[in-house]
Amino acid sequence: MTSQLLFYLIIAILVVNFLVDKWLDYLNSTHFDHEIPELLGDVYEDKEYYKSQDYKKENFKFSSIISVFSFLLTIAFFFYEGFALVDEYARSVSEHPIVIALIFFGIIMLGSDILTTPLSYYKTFVIEEKYGFNKSTRLLFFIDKIKGWLLMTLLGGSILALVIWFYQQTGKNFWIYTWIFMAAFSIFMMLFYSSLIVPLFNKQTPLQEGELKNKLEDFAKKVGFNLDKIFVIDGSKRSTKANAYFTGFGKKKRIVLYDTLIKDLESDEIVSVLAHEVGHYKKKHVVFNMIVSILMTGFTLFIFSLFIDSKLLSNALSVSEPSFHIGLIAFGVLYTPISEITGLLMNFISRKFEYQADNYAKTNFGAIPLISSLKKLSKNSLSNLTPHKAYVFMHYSHPTLLQRVQNLKS
Ligand SMILES: [Zn+2]
Repeated sequence: MTSQLLFYLIIAILVVNFLVDKWLDYLNSTHFDHEIPELLGDVYEDKEYYKSQDYKKENFKFSSIISVFSFLLTIAFFFYEGFALVDEYARSVSEHPIVIALIFFGIIMLGSDILTTPLSYYKTFVIEEKYGFNKSTRLLFFIDKIKGWLLMTLLGGSILALVIWFYQQTGKNFWIYTWIFMAAFSIFMMLFYSSLIVPLFNKQTPLQEGELKNKLEDFAKKVGFNLDKIFVIDGSKRSTKANAYFTGFGKKKRIVLYDTLIKDLESDEIVSVLAHEVGHYKKKHVVFNMIVSILMTGFTLFIFSLFIDSKLLSNALSVSEPSFHIGLIAFGVLYTPISEITGLLMNFISRKFEYQADNYAKTNFGAIPLISSLKKLSKNSLSNLTPHKAYVFMHYSHPTLLQRVQNLKS
């Protein structure tokens, strides 16, 4: 294979990926005006329904414009040898491979952040604001940005430096050391994410005394889950949208409920959400996901190690001197067809897990409160109740509201 052929293969993958994605978005949009299924007839009142229609159409239009814009920009960057230019600049600053790579990715990240920040600003302060979701201030928005950058620079930068150092020391075998490190790092993060990273952005507090706590306590006792592990997070400082999740394992496990969820739902409904989250814990979903993700990381790193030395990857991007960072960019694109498939598989498994957690809540607490809480949450986030099947298959990590209600009623 010549480097020119490889270049066109990279472009072809980018184009096909873009077209498939746009085609799915389009299919989904053709279902926007479909009639709402009978089972979900009580989710929206007329006025809210029209509002939800406007919301999804506006989001569709906005994301279409963005994706076309970013696709064209990416393609142009490849055709005008953008990576070679950035690489050349980084090499003019330093001769050390790690420093070169850090400068290279620093510039690429900064550039793409400068382009995407106005878009996320528009999304938050124009679209979300218009539909009453946004609670963030401009100050908070930029503080979040800066914290995100610092975290990315510190964590991302040191991990990249370490991986390149492994590569310098051990050559092709770098993948084994990187894999061991990544596995240890993700287990560490799984354990300490809630106590190290989340507090940088949010406050988590134990449940307050009262009727709700008593009800949650009764349920938690019944199924043998420690109530100390339930926290309330101040999601309301950014958005009115509600959520709940399970994270960590062993002594570090916790269930996090958004304060917005507690505000929007009745106490029985909140217990049903807790029951669903306890279901994820009892069925060991978090541990399963972590093991799978560690195995997939190993697989990806191994495949990458087969190509890393090849001059072809860097030549395809018009860079004469092969390097880890240029190889990583080319490999990243070439690997997309495989990562699309593994992503699809993970979504499929995740949807199965959601049914399992729903069933757990149904058996141990009851289907009725969970159905009404799912409906309320959909209503309050103006969810699309009529997604296209193909779109759900590719993108949804949760079954649709209709599928969940059907399953809970069966
Ligand atoms: Zn779930």
